[in-house]
Parts: sequence; structure tokens; C-alpha cells
Amino acid sequence: MIEVKNICKQVITTEGKLDILDGISLTVADGETLAIVGPSGSGKSTLLGILAGLDLPSSGSVIVNNQDITAMDEEGRAMVRAKDVGFVFQSFHLLPGLTALENVALPLELNGDGKALETANYYLERVGLSSRTTHYPRQLSGGEQQRVDIARALLNSPKLILADEPTGNLDPETSDEIMQILIQIAKDYGTAVIMATHD
Ligand code: ADP
Ligand code: MG
Repeated sequence: MIEVKNICKQVITTEGKLDILDGISLTVADGETLAIVGPSGSGKSTLLGILAGLDLPSSGSVIVNNQDITAMDEEGRAMVRAKDVGFVFQSFHLLPGLTALENVALPLELNGDGKALETANYYLERVGLSSRTTHYPRQLSGGEQQRVDIARALLNSPKLILADEPTGNLDPETSDEIMQILIQIAKDYGTAVIMATHD
């Protein structure tokens, strides 16, 4: 599903050249989950940004669903992202004035999808939140908010899910639940899941 070949990323800083990534290669097949583990500052977010096509490597290539996104222009990468990639963030990015259901349905509604609520309900059920659909983010625990974010990441049936410290704000038990949900999603939908974590 995703193949990364010899990625390097260097940036120029006021202190000179900085090597953030130095020869990273990896392959994640459909249905597989990969954890990228390393302390803060080790380059996890930089790598995920490159895998998402939000940033380009200094050298090396990234093949997502048979498409070399490192050979594409920004528009091409944005199309691959919209079609094939789902994101899960540490800080959830939920809109406080919308319920869980409305938060998940919003991207579909913006696309004029008549079945937005139905689809959103399906994915909320999928992450175990059918009894919380009418709750606002402030009425949800951190783990529940993260599950809403995961439900939203599934909307475009992504081939690849990228999760940047999805458990960074959660206690160990809830972190474990969230990881199990991501692993199960990978198995059930044949999605490749890559998650970064510092622990
Ligand atoms: P992580 O997500 O593992 O905490 P990051 O990928 O955010 O690590 O950052 C890795 C290192 O690269 C950090 O030391 C960060 O300060 C540095 N870094 C990231 N992007 C840039 C940039 N555009 N310019 C300079 N330094 C950067
Ligand atoms: Mg990071």
C-alpha cells in the first residue's frame, strides 16, 4: 500500500544544515499497522508529513497506492490525499459547537452528500460511540473525542491512515483502546495504518 524508499530530509537553519531524516525506508501492506516510536524531536511528524504529501523529502520517494507522490506537483499530492489518505491528530480538531455526529458528517455535508448523517452514524458506531452521537466535544472524554476524530478519518475509505501521536493526550488504558481500534480498522478495512508515538 505504501512504500517509502530512502527518504532524507535536510533543512537549513541559522545554525547550519540539519538532517532530520537520514535514509528511511519502509513498506506497510494493506491491513498492516506500523508504529513509529521515538522521543520528541526525533522526526516523526516530519516523516508523517512527507508520507501525507504535505511536505517533500530532500531525496527518496514515497509510493501511495501505486502513485509516486514525490514525483507529483502539489495539486496531484492533494488529490491523492483527498482520495486515499485519512488523518488522526493528537489534538482531535473537533468543532466545539457541533455534536459528535455533526462533526463527523460535516466534511460529507460540505461535499453535498445526501447520506452524510447516515454515513457518519455508521462510522461512529464502528468506533463504539453510537451512544454519544448527540454529545458535544466538551461532554466527551479525551478517548471519546479521539474516537470521533478516527470516525471522521474513515469517511473517504482511505487506503492509508496516518496518526500523529493519537494517544498523546490520553491515559495509558485509553491509549491502549485507541490503538486497538486503529489495529482493528486496519484488519477490517484492509487499510494500512501508520502511527507515531513517543511511548
Ligand atoms: P517529532 O514529531 O518526533 O517530535 P519533528 O518531526 O516535529 O519530531 O521534528 C524533528 C526535528 O526537526 C526537531 O528538532 C525540529 O525542531 C526539527 N524541524 C522540523 N521541521 C523543521 C524545519 N522546517 N526547520 C528547522 N527545523 C525543523
Ligand atoms: Mg511530532
